Amino acid sequence: MTAHTTSVDPLKTYLAFDESRRDGGDDSSGGPGDDAGDGVSHFSGAPESVHTRIRDRVEELRPELARLAVDLHDHPETAFGEFRSARAVADLLESHGAEVEVGAFGLDTALYATEGPQEGAPHFAVVAEYDALPEVGHACGHNVIAGISVGAYIALRDVLGDIGGRVSFIGAPAEESGGGKELILRAGGFDGVDAAGMVHPGVGDTVSPVYGPGTSGVRRIAVTYRGRAAHAAMSPYLGLNALDAVVTAYQSVAQLRQHILPVDRIHGVITNGGSAANVVPETASAVFLVRSTEIDTLDILTRRVVTVLEAAASATGTTADIDLDFEPAYLPMKNNIELVKRWADHLRDRGREVPLYPAHARQGGPSTDMGNVSRTIPAIHPALGLGGSPDVAPHNAAFAETTVEPAAVDALIDAAVSLAGTAADFLADADLRDAVRREFNYRVRGQVE
Ligand SMILES: [Zn+2]
Ligand SMILES: [Zn+2]
Repeated sequence: MTAHTTSVDPLKTYLAFDESRRDGGDDSSGGPGDDAGDGVSHFSGAPESVHTRIRDRVEELRPELARLAVDLHDHPETAFGEFRSARAVADLLESHGAEVEVGAFGLDTALYATEGPQEGAPHFAVVAEYDALPEVGHACGHNVIAGISVGAYIALRDVLGDIGGRVSFIGAPAEESGGGKELILRAGGFDGVDAAGMVHPGVGDTVSPVYGPGTSGVRRIAVTYRGRAAHAAMSPYLGLNALDAVVTAYQSVAQLRQHILPVDRIHGVITNGGSAANVVPETASAVFLVRSTEIDTLDILTRRVVTVLEAAASATGTTADIDLDFEPAYLPMKNNIELVKRWADHLRDRGREVPLYPAHARQGGPSTDMGNVSRTIPAIHPALGLGGSPDVAPHNAAFAETTVEPAAVDALIDAAVSLAGTAADFLADADLRDAVRREFNYRVRGQVE
């Protein structure tokens, strides 16, 4: 793309933001599935005897699940390179009788296992992640996610004979970058699945609120500026400075930040700033991530950032190659409230309080490709604190260490029990399934039955 002049009216950002508040974009809004508003599920779910068996089974698995979390922590692997990790997850599932496909959905490090009738039965998928971050290892706690989902899946297989239905385990690579779940969606991996769930580690003892803010969507933009090299002292007037273009772009994005929504996020790094101080840099590159809590506002903000990047080329006489969505966009997560209420009930049974509303209703923040799943089928992605220091947040190396502390194992067990309990409720209770579907159709598809 070469530089040209476009403009985006920031007023439209705010109008779209207001629109999304009115149409139920806010997770705390009313509509089907939110009749009581007290954060408690009014469905009966699976029989108590099933939940007792799930609790006992996950507790039995505690040492093995803890060992898996430690093993993955000690051998972190990044996006699409999770060969050892995927094998370790598959080994544990197979040791409990599951048949696991390694390399499912055309992805070498994706996993798939399923149990129950292939046709006609309600179908819940337990989703797992196991990728780490470069340099800081399992600082996002995906090793704990793997333990939670393996525990939930094994417990669900054991009770399936009592409740009916089908349960699948979908091991999704490359959440930190690469969009593994979006690729699995495109490969048909969620076809025929009626609902899906996973749990993400959080800070301190925090728990996702029932009517939580979800997550932000994210789009990724790579830009490479091309100018003309020249001797920086002898003939600088012959040069067109690509580094100047990147710096201008970076500063212009910083200026944009005053005039965007409080929930929006833009951040980036310069990936190439030239190589020799006495040569006018011919090429220079940067990567920016753009986030917002609604699809509409994410789209508007993305166009504003692209405009800024193009303008930097104009200002410096360079050209800009802009690669928008060089990885799949992650869409804002829509937690299915009827399912989250079941999750909250089970977590309360474990002695943990689940807040109804977030401290900051529509706070912006991180993103997940589980958001893409949640736009296709009803899904949940609550967070559960690992009991570490409230000062230690994910994507910091210190957080990786909290994932193998005893409190983190307690959280893993609570999350596995509550996720399996939620799935069992969904499979056992036709009324709950109906409410989940209606809520999804209303809040995600905008359809009222
Ligand atoms: Zn994560
Ligand atoms: Zn992360």
